[in-house]
Amino acid sequence: MDQVTHDVVVVGAGPAGMSAAVAAADAGLRVAVVDEQRRAGGQIFRQPPEEFAGVGVRPGAGYGWALPLLRDFESHPLVDHRPSSSALGVLREVDAPHERGAVLTVAVSTPAGGVNLRAPRLVLATGAYDLPVAFPGWTLPGVMTAGGVQSLLKSQHVRVAGPVVVAGSHPLLIVVAEQLRAAGADVVEVAFARGLPTPTESVRARRAVPGHAAVLAETARAVANLVAHGVRVSTRTAVVAAHGRDGVESVELARIDSSWRQTGRRRTRAAATLVVGYGFTPSTELARQAGCEVEWSSPRGGWVVRHDESFAASLPGVWVAGEPTGVGGAEQARAEGRLAGLALARDADPHAVSADDLGAAEDDVRRAGRFAGVVQELFEPDRAGMASWADHDTTICRCELVTRGTVEQVLADNPFLSTASAVKLECRAGMGPCQGRYCEGAVGALVSQARDQAPADSGHFSGRFPVKPTPLGVLADLVPEDTDIHPGVSTDTAGTG
Ligand SMILES: Cc1cc2nc3c(=O)[nH]c(=O)nc-3n(C[C@H](O)[C@H](O)[C@H](O)COP(=O)(O)OP(=O)(O)OC[C@H]3O[C@@H](n4cnc5c(N)ncnc54)[C@H](O)[C@@H]3O)c2cc1C
Repeated sequence: MDQVTHDVVVVGAGPAGMSAAVAAADAGLRVAVVDEQRRAGGQIFRQPPEEFAGVGVRPGAGYGWALPLLRDFESHPLVDHRPSSSALGVLREVDAPHERGAVLTVAVSTPAGGVNLRAPRLVLATGAYDLPVAFPGWTLPGVMTAGGVQSLLKSQHVRVAGPVVVAGSHPLLIVVAEQLRAAGADVVEVAFARGLPTPTESVRARRAVPGHAAVLAETARAVANLVAHGVRVSTRTAVVAAHGRDGVESVELARIDSSWRQTGRRRTRAAATLVVGYGFTPSTELARQAGCEVEWSSPRGGWVVRHDESFAASLPGVWVAGEPTGVGGAEQARAEGRLAGLALARDADPHAVSADDLGAAEDDVRRAGRFAGVVQELFEPDRAGMASWADHDTTICRCELVTRGTVEQVLADNPFLSTASAVKLECRAGMGPCQGRYCEGAVGALVSQARDQAPADSGHFSGRFPVKPTPLGVLADLVPEDTDIHPGVSTDTAGTG
């Protein structure tokens, strides 16, 4: 077993993780950064493989800081970047309880096997993943998420087959539709679940303009380009079913009302690919497994990690930055990462960071938060409405093949069962390799509907070690012969599944 000691371990090399790492390293700390991707950049600045000569990241409008940040990160002598590596969990030494200064051990799966990285401080900057939405046909080959389609475009320069229908409600969907069209894909329709902004919303949205005019203009240009190239852009419309034998052949679209319930007749469109993008879910499984407290915030993406003003999580020694604190975009992620990196450097050595630098970073977070807040408010998906699109036979948990009907039967048979975790124990929804990333929201929504309670009261699935599917050989590498360690104890009380 390889035991490496650093001053800080950062999980995630997106805008948040890179900023935290550079800030901490600039203050003199030795930082290990673990990321699943082959290259740094995270989701937004995903780099193609080095073999793709001549094509690099082209950051969109408003992200002038992206290339300098990538350069600083990749060249910093105190940053030890470990790509193609997954953090599986936070292990705790039995005799060294989590106290400030105690050593945290992050179990990592690397191409060379399992490695335990040990450090007194940890930053969780694990980003987000596409919000999964279950409707009849959503598991057919050819139904893809907006982020997934975009990842293929960015990292492999591969575009999906047409005709392409794009459906959802997040502004990124417009950008992805235009990127696909510009790459030569036959995009035929963009179905947007929201209506045009109301006058009240437009007035409120003006708060987002200062400093972000370029981003807004880019989105407006994308809509104009789509329309100019004959792509139908429909509002208050959702794809409610996908059909086909071995893959998508057609989709059914329906008008929806302000609660996202179907109204009126459906229409059918031929499609070989359906791209779905209703927003993002913070990736909090590692934080939960480590024992950090989470809280429910639908506008911020669902379950988010609780933290203080310097982004310290509830577990001593752990900071959090970027999407796990709430889906807020790259600018917010960068600002939070820098603040977390400075705060933990100051925690390590009170003289390492000046009060001015810390104050400026706090202002930066507040500024970025104004834009993120408006986007979150305007584009919050209607979770109850979306949950109504699955029918009795629709698969909710695609790992364990559990249908909506089965979940409802479990709830009917067990009148005192009122949490998502309890449903998980009864019918295995959420127990497969993805550990509930696909079905947690849908199960939670069904529990809330059946028990007439708020999503926060339906709870969440617990984070379990390992948080990602892992070869057994890697797990064997992680077990030290001379130390008594076991997976971090979760402090959540939402359930035991
Ligand atoms: C697929 C996808 C595409 C997106 N594209 C855009 C876009 O084009 N424009 C835009 O404005 N926003 C986009 N977003 C939103 C995006 O999440 C933010 O704008 C921004 O990238 C957030 O920065 P971050 O540092 O918080 O997270 P990210 O950039 O997501 O970085 C998190 C990193 O953590 C790594 N990671 C996560 N868990 C582990 C683990 N257990 N072990 C090791 N590594 C781990 C991931 O590989 C990732 O590189 C996208 C989101 C997704 C999910």
